[in-house]
Amino acid sequence: MQGDAYLKCINPQCGIEYPIEYTSVQCEKGHLLDVKYKNKPSPELKEVFYKRRNSEGSIFNESGVWRFRELLNFCQIDTENIEECSKYLVSLDGAEGRQSKPYHMSKAADFIGIPNENLWLQPEGYNPSGSFKDNGMATAVTHAKMTGAKKIVCASTGNTSASAGMFAANEGINCDVYIPAGQIAPGKLSQAYQFGAQIVEVDGNFDDALKQSLDDAQNHDGYTVNSVNPFRIEGQKTIPFRALEYLNWEAPDWLVYPGGALGNISSCGKALMELHEWGWIKKIPRIAVINSEGASTLSDLYNGKFENEKLRWNDGNPNIELISRYYDHLDKEGLRPKTKATAIQIGRPANILKGLRALEFTNGVATTVSDSEMLDGMSVVGLNGFDCEMASGATVVGIKKLINEGVIKNDDVVVGILTGRQKDAMIPVDYHRNSENEFAIPPKN
Ligand SMILES: [Zn+2]
Repeated sequence: MQGDAYLKCINPQCGIEYPIEYTSVQCEKGHLLDVKYKNKPSPELKEVFYKRRNSEGSIFNESGVWRFRELLNFCQIDTENIEECSKYLVSLDGAEGRQSKPYHMSKAADFIGIPNENLWLQPEGYNPSGSFKDNGMATAVTHAKMTGAKKIVCASTGNTSASAGMFAANEGINCDVYIPAGQIAPGKLSQAYQFGAQIVEVDGNFDDALKQSLDDAQNHDGYTVNSVNPFRIEGQKTIPFRALEYLNWEAPDWLVYPGGALGNISSCGKALMELHEWGWIKKIPRIAVINSEGASTLSDLYNGKFENEKLRWNDGNPNIELISRYYDHLDKEGLRPKTKATAIQIGRPANILKGLRALEFTNGVATTVSDSEMLDGMSVVGLNGFDCEMASGATVVGIKKLINEGVIKNDDVVVGILTGRQKDAMIPVDYHRNSENEFAIPPKN
């Protein structure tokens, strides 16, 4: 297996390759990287993964990430050797991804207008730090450890910092969290503080904080764990792996995600490309990305709402200038991403190119929903006994919108990803106090 995994630039005209120990998140020309594997894992592993659900005392079988370790074996280790796994693989005692799988939620299905048996919703909020980020943080911190990093670094306003802080505390390494000064409510960083992360305040907006975190990581021996890190993408592949496994590897018609930095879309697309190439799935599910109306970069560009050109991956030749002009236009008009669903309040999605590649491979779609729609989506999930954050509500109302538009057919099988758990206690309280909201149950006196 040695020498099986390597890094490769995603730009087909560039395509520079690097050894797996390489720690920069870009090629030398500034393009994003993919983790690549030379081997072709056998579909017989499906049986192995299924058997590991009875963990027999191994945290690497218990983990919803490392249960699929042969499909993310960038450490190039003997995956059956538990001692070797313990030396390399980073895990929160097997808890990452352990509780996430797809469920039927009848009240959400009624609200959407889809037969209950055709709708699956997968809560990723039931991860130890409360969001899907733990899937990718397990793999990113594994790579950090493999390369001897003493400090992990991220820019974040919430979920990423919570996950990074938790993993860093568990591994006994340092964690720096970059935030735009004065723009983040302290409560959103409470988990990062709790786990002992160092908060670094940066003058400017989130993009400035990310830029400084990337510069500091490079200049001061930090290891970046934002989703531009290709190893984050590897761990997040297990979100669709688990969904597919619970559907007996029969691909659904749709996989639906909220769209923020587009790391999830990128990883879902990569997972499907690999499974298809390896002969594990024949049918390719379509990906639907649901942006907030107030942070709709992907939807605007993909649907040709800017300069009437539909931005596409175009076999690796996307119109980069169109993206630059769109960002210039946002700056010139003073348009800042604005939604109460802060997890997807992102104007410049760092993974937009990988996201476009995923949409091209899966014949995907992108659309937008409003804040009040997201709140309804979030609330109807709650009525099924599941807790999710506002951004996850985008998945539910996005499916509803696409069914109403006839894009998703009524008999299609749909898997929607609920990305995180509620971390802003006042959002549901305010929603339910207003009797005009569709699912509100106002307090009585
Ligand atoms: Zn390159």
